[in-house]
Order: sequence, then structure tokens, then C-alpha cells
Amino acid sequence: MEKYCQACGMPLTKKEDFANGDENSNFCLYCVNEDGSVKSCEDIFEGGVQYFMSQLGDDRALAEKMVRKNMSQLPYWKDKNCDIMNGEMATDEEFAEVLKRIG
Ligand SMILES: [Zn+2]
Repeated sequence: MEKYCQACGMPLTKKEDFANGDENSNFCLYCVNEDGSVKSCEDIFEGGVQYFMSQLGDDRALAEKMVRKNMSQLPYWKDKNCDIMNGEMATDEEFAEVLKRIG
């Protein structure tokens, strides 16, 4: 069964993708600290923004909208109070279009 990181949605397809290489983990290597704890909302948000900016040519406004949309779809963040998530969000169409563009 295919697993996804609960905090960022990244597919966990090989051992190295998992936090600390632990295939029982529900998180990817990017979303945990060295002690195994899950990073803060702000850290994971910023990591996502940096990823999208690297793909979209430094369009930070669009990158933030994409990350908000992505994280809002993940059950992990539903009950977390996360200020950085309050803001402009990509629409379904925008989200799909950008994902297609960055392939
Ligand atoms: Zn992750």
C-alpha cells in the first residue's frame, strides 16, 4: 500500500524517504527533527515554500498559496492551530495547473 507523509503529502516509496529510514513512520525525512519529533507547522510550511519556489522561479506568493492548499488537504493539520495557514490559498484549478506545470 502506498504511503504518504502525513505532514507534507510526499509519497513514501523507498526506505530512504521515511523519517530516520523507519518504514513504520508516517512522516518523510524532511518533516522530522533529528530527535524524531515532527517539525513545527512554520518549518514544514517554509520547506514547502522553498520547494515550490525552486520549481516556479522564486514566485513566493504563488508558492505560499500552493503550500497552504497542499497542507489544508492533509488530515494531520486539521486540528492544529497554525497561524501561517491563514492566508490566501490556491484554488483547485490553480493547484492542479501548477502541479501539471512542475510535473
Ligand atoms: Zn513530509
